[in-house]
Amino acid sequence: MQKGKIGISTENIFPIIKKYLYSDHEIFLRELISNAVDATQKLNTLARIGDYKGEVGDTTIRVSIDEKEKTITISDRGIGMTAEEIEKFINQVAFSGANEFLEKYKNDANAIIGHFGMGFYSSFMVSKKVEIHTLSYKDDAKAVKWECDGSPEYTLEEIDKKERGTDIVLFIDDENQHFVAKDEINRLLKKYCGFLPVPVAFGKQTEWKDGKEVEKDKENIINDTNPLWTQSPSNLKDEDYKKFYRNLYPMAEDPLFNIHLNVDYPFNLTGILYFPKINNNIEVQRNKIQLFCNQVYVTDSVEGIVPEFLTLLHGVIDSPDIPLNVSRSYLQSDSNVKKISSHITKKVADRLDEIFKTERPSFEAKWDDLKVFIEYGMLTDEKFHERAQKFALLKNTDGKFFTFDEYKNIIKDSQTDKDKQLVYLYATDAEGQYSFIEGAKNKGYDVLLMDGQLDTHFINHLEQKFEGARFVRVDSDVPEKLIPQEAESELKLSDAEKDNLTTIFSSQIPNLDKANFVVSFEALAATDKPVMVTQQEFMRRMKEMSQAGGGPMSFYGEMPDSYNLVVNGNHDLIQRIVKDCDEAVGDSVTSVRKKIESLESRKAELEKGKGEKKEEEIPQAEKEELEDVEKKITELRGKKDESLKKFASNNKLVSQLIDLALLSNNMLKGEALNRFVKRSIDLI
Ligand code: ADP
Repeated sequence: MQKGKIGISTENIFPIIKKYLYSDHEIFLRELISNAVDATQKLNTLARIGDYKGEVGDTTIRVSIDEKEKTITISDRGIGMTAEEIEKFINQVAFSGANEFLEKYKNDANAIIGHFGMGFYSSFMVSKKVEIHTLSYKDDAKAVKWECDGSPEYTLEEIDKKERGTDIVLFIDDENQHFVAKDEINRLLKKYCGFLPVPVAFGKQTEWKDGKEVEKDKENIINDTNPLWTQSPSNLKDEDYKKFYRNLYPMAEDPLFNIHLNVDYPFNLTGILYFPKINNNIEVQRNKIQLFCNQVYVTDSVEGIVPEFLTLLHGVIDSPDIPLNVSRSYLQSDSNVKKISSHITKKVADRLDEIFKTERPSFEAKWDDLKVFIEYGMLTDEKFHERAQKFALLKNTDGKFFTFDEYKNIIKDSQTDKDKQLVYLYATDAEGQYSFIEGAKNKGYDVLLMDGQLDTHFINHLEQKFEGARFVRVDSDVPEKLIPQEAESELKLSDAEKDNLTTIFSSQIPNLDKANFVVSFEALAATDKPVMVTQQEFMRRMKEMSQAGGGPMSFYGEMPDSYNLVVNGNHDLIQRIVKDCDEAVGDSVTSVRKKIESLESRKAELEKGKGEKKEEEIPQAEKEELEDVEKKITELRGKKDESLKKFASNNKLVSQLIDLALLSNNMLKGEALNRFVKRSIDLI
């Protein structure tokens, strides 16, 4: 028997392995089975090129556990190792600068393992002793057993082993006994080895007989050696892709589309990506892509490898060219990875474009699900925006779909304002904004439906991208004013009448929580609505943005919503209120107003005279008169407002019109709504 010291520069590597690689202990199985796969594939290659003339035979890799002995064994029928090879590959672990590196990457087991090529040594994370029993494929090779208990000392001796290949026997240590269990090994095999290219067997298949689970005589192969992404797309049907998806995500709904990636230049990459049904829940759907390296599962966190918005996709990516064993920050700066990332973006865009061109009806039918995804991509990835503008769709409130270009052509003639700006009208709530949508449609406008979860941002984005265009929400103004045109019709109200109506209407607006109203007048058609409630586009957007992001504009979020109560001066009902008011309180209001006017002109005179003088030069009498005049004006105004308010509160029409306007905005609630219902019954 030979004894020796493993050639590493640190005193003892094993405590370090145990300590630093703690979180990822379970990967030992992946590492050992990957080595077995490599050894098997090497043998297959040697046999193919004629360097190995023996019988290849069954190359199934077998995993077994011995619950009594507390061992896990991984056996392969690969090339095996000679004593010299063990000396070279296992004992001489290249380990320069180990401490420094371990310190730096102590939280990243993959980085450590990859850096040192010490996949095999990960077995010491869970074992107190490891044995290698191996027989090389080489003629006249002698079988050997290597044994090491976790200290730098090992033993190597000849043994009697007839079958070519390697058995790795792990004597599991006390802290890791949970690995010596059928269910746990099954879980690990399923997670890491489900698609390995060489069959891996664990135990026997089972079946239910007479109410009991019994073992069959067949081995239980845990992997699919020929997964879908390694097959040629031309041989695959839609159903195959769906089946594979269900395999990967048993709980998910069927996907919308898939993309089969197959790249061999300038890097190697295969994979299948699926567009999942997002169902308005972006976060739940994120980070489901599984990353493989030659069919060995590596990770399901692909940030850095695929662009951020594509982390919404599901599926698998397999590439030997992605440096998997490095830290995330290194990954993001790796030029290969950058190429891969932009290539995947391009492929995704190409595929969407193809579906759009060849199956537009189905593309439209799936748009509501695809939309979040495409908008997210366009918002965050300039290149994707460029590609997607050909197939991104806008949906109007009639449920029709248009590309950006198509839509522009449709609204060009009817929705260009007097400053030659193209106005895109949109609604965010087809039901709540119904009356405004109808109003705009009656004017011959088209209204987009922008009710998606990213639409607030997307509208801002499109305003920056589209030249000479702006988006206006359909309830931000009366239909006539949404798209300002040159000629405006004349308002049939005098200044005095407007003044009266302002008092009349503002006095009857119900008190609503966090809402301010300003009465304004418009010269709309007699057929338009008499009173409407609109919300300024600018203020509303500021509030929405501050609610979404906070920051310097957060004070907007605290402010009440400000609305306009727009009175259509040309409507018959408004004219009737003017007439009723005139009859009821017209004379007194007019005479008070006359008094106010004459007092105001006296006030202006006094102020003018005062303006030219210094404070001490103003005669006391003049000062007193000014004060007196101001007081009188305030009194008279109060008197005028009083009688107008009294008139308003007795006039059911005023409240009824206000309430109707609030009602069509879904703003009439509680007590106010109750009063409205009662009044309506009275009026009927
Ligand atoms: P890596 O696999 O990254 O090279 P390992 O430490 O896992 O690093 O293995 C070191 C070497 O030991 C391998 O390159 C291979 O030559 C040899 N080896 C490991 N496991 C086996 C095996 N099951 N059969 C044959 N050779 C093996």
